[in-house]
Amino acid sequence: MAWGWSRTPESPHRTGSAVDLWPLDREGRVFFDPQTRNRIAAALRKAAADLGVPTCWGGRFRGFKDMDRSHFELAAP
Ligand SMILES: [Zn+2]
Repeated sequence: MAWGWSRTPESPHRTGSAVDLWPLDREGRVFFDPQTRNRIAAALRKAAADLGVPTCWGGRFRGFKDMDRSHFELAAP
């Protein structure tokens, strides 16, 4: 919210059950390449499966206006 990237005060980010992951370029700037973001999602999905942690990915949220590919959240057990 401080960065203006979110307008949602009621968020799983606030309870610590969600995280947004962005790739950075060599200068540390956010890199908006969708392919790179999909690679992060694939890596996180694999790690979650290996560890047996149920997660949901913002890239699959239904009804979300602009799929939130950077968002990863713990799923309800
Ligand atoms: Zn998020």
